[in-house]
Amino acid sequence: MDISSIIQSLREQLNQHNYNYYVLDNPTISDFEFDQKLKQLQELEAKHPEFFDENSPSQRVGGTITKNFATVVHENRMYSLDNSYSIEDLYDWETKIQKVLGNVNLEYTCELKYDGASISITYENGKLARAVTRGDGFQGDEVTNNIKTIKSIPLVLKGNFPPKFDIRGEIILPFEGFEKMNQELIEIGETPYSNPRNTASGSLKLQDSAEVAKRPLDCLLYFIIGNNLPFKSQFDGLEAARKWGFKVPNESKLAKNLDEVFEFINYWDTHRHNLPYETDGVVIKVNDFNHQNELGYTAKSPRWAIAYKFKSEQVTTTLNSISYQVGRTGAITPVANLEPVQLAGTIVKRASLHNADQIEKLDIRVGDEVFVEKGGEIIPKIIGVAKRGNATQPTQYITHCPECETELIRKEGEAQHYCPNFYGCPPQIIGRIQHYISRKAMDIEGLGGETVALLYNNGLVQNYADLYELTVDQITPLERMAQKSADNLVNGVQLSKNVSFERVLYALGIRYVGETVAKKLAKHYKSIDALRQASILDLILVDEIGDRIAQSVIEFFENETNVITVERLKKHGVQFEVVETFNPNATDKLVGKTFVVSGVFEKFSRDDLKKAIEDNGGKVGSSISSKTDYVVAGDNMGPAKLEKANQLGIAIISEDDFIGMIG
Ligand code: AMP
Ligand code: ZN
Repeated sequence: MDISSIIQSLREQLNQHNYNYYVLDNPTISDFEFDQKLKQLQELEAKHPEFFDENSPSQRVGGTITKNFATVVHENRMYSLDNSYSIEDLYDWETKIQKVLGNVNLEYTCELKYDGASISITYENGKLARAVTRGDGFQGDEVTNNIKTIKSIPLVLKGNFPPKFDIRGEIILPFEGFEKMNQELIEIGETPYSNPRNTASGSLKLQDSAEVAKRPLDCLLYFIIGNNLPFKSQFDGLEAARKWGFKVPNESKLAKNLDEVFEFINYWDTHRHNLPYETDGVVIKVNDFNHQNELGYTAKSPRWAIAYKFKSEQVTTTLNSISYQVGRTGAITPVANLEPVQLAGTIVKRASLHNADQIEKLDIRVGDEVFVEKGGEIIPKIIGVAKRGNATQPTQYITHCPECETELIRKEGEAQHYCPNFYGCPPQIIGRIQHYISRKAMDIEGLGGETVALLYNNGLVQNYADLYELTVDQITPLERMAQKSADNLVNGVQLSKNVSFERVLYALGIRYVGETVAKKLAKHYKSIDALRQASILDLILVDEIGDRIAQSVIEFFENETNVITVERLKKHGVQFEVVETFNPNATDKLVGKTFVVSGVFEKFSRDDLKKAIEDNGGKVGSSISSKTDYVVAGDNMGPAKLEKANQLGIAIISEDDFIGMIG
């Protein structure tokens, strides 16, 4: 095959695999195999720029910077939808329609109303040509490069599509991805995002498309607009879009009359909480295009469609008290303790209050009856006061830390109060040690978060350097600790001395120094001593290190306690330098991945294979579990193991695949 055909074939395969994974949710190859193919394509494209294609799947990783998004006029206006809130509203709507159309038989398409940011995507000759935000409905911002990074949006269509059309949809951030993004922010001491919708719509306007590519965005499509479309109704349009490769949720239904519409509404009113994404209602559309054309539009919205808004589930209950939690970085989060109440299928006892401004804005006081609502977030929130209780004065936000009594501070422009007693405030001390031992940091086996608290409460550890001086005799007398668990703990701590410098740097818990930043700093400075010497200017010159991170690194080393702790860790043998080992095969390519080795191999003995995994930063597991990332299978792999791996959906790779992985 010539190069051009190979490139073409790889592109087609990758498009199909993207489709299987992101649209059908049914991958047929492992992530590893996918990455290999993508890498192969990227290399060929780099060598043969003459075959560049802006719609190649390699373009999905992003990397373009848009400083100013161009304004584009919508060829077809993007309308709003009228809202309805009750069954009566819908009867009235139908009556109005029948006045225009006469007493015809009306069918309706029922769809969920996806809560995100709307987008209009133009396809020309089966290729994604342009994507534009809704803007004011007449014109929006062109965000094509950002949109291309969303994997469920096809870059190239399949089947029998018209030469040119626009498709409308909603860019959303499913709950799971949203929670994950927030977890990562909290990890490094940043403020989490407030809700999926705003985060999704903010993502569209990021300047760096590589950043957009990292966000787990999705796009749900609901409307095709164009000339000479090969279908005559909304429902058939959805079906066609699905065939061309778009993600059109299967929940949509064709209703033969309003009663069936009500059934759909009632069903989703209770079941919407099980969906992976947020929905705030149902959109009902007159199905037949001839009817739609006759009905036309008002100044703002189509007469042939209407949104039905779910009543957001709201209850009232008493605010019993407000408590204040202190996080690892000292950030204070107020939490409302409520009289337990049933809401959206669960009993709610607590609600998040975010920060002092929020309490002030809502003017909630202990003893008030408050409205509680379940939105997109997992924790419900208080949205207002229903009835004032006995409190005559507004809530006084705490001025001192509930855990250590230090006076709180609040930096200019920040919403959160902080306890500045980083080295003396128990939850901060414990949180920092818990971070140190966590999986992505030192990954200390035999030591968990609760044990850290136990050790601290018994006066055995004050900071992470103390871990290295723990003895088995000190640990065994503690609650729930036996000889074996104590041995494991001490052993696990000793083993952490093999952890590479970049992970140690992350483990230190310097504010804003997450995994990626730690890697960058380690690579650039090569040792903690060099990093410590760096001036702020020096730090800022490092690729992707900004003011805030630089300042935070400087502050870390300005603190005597930190310097002493680092010195102690160093004495214990923790790695504070990039080790250029003698082993020419060592890489960190497998960091964070757990392998199970099974069967007999041709090119390695089993022990050599295990060593190769560890030399490259991976872990060797003894049995297949949900924690396993890959099973390296040789000849005679046991059938039970094979079945287990398949059941858990774990990638099974050959020894050649493995060699490919470590290059
Ligand atoms: P509104 O912004 O309240 O006027 O509602 C109109 C918006 O709902 C549209 O601009 C779309 O972004 C959004 N929407 C979400 N799901 C759908 C759907 N299934 N059909 C039509 N519009 C939808
Ligand atoms: Zn404190």
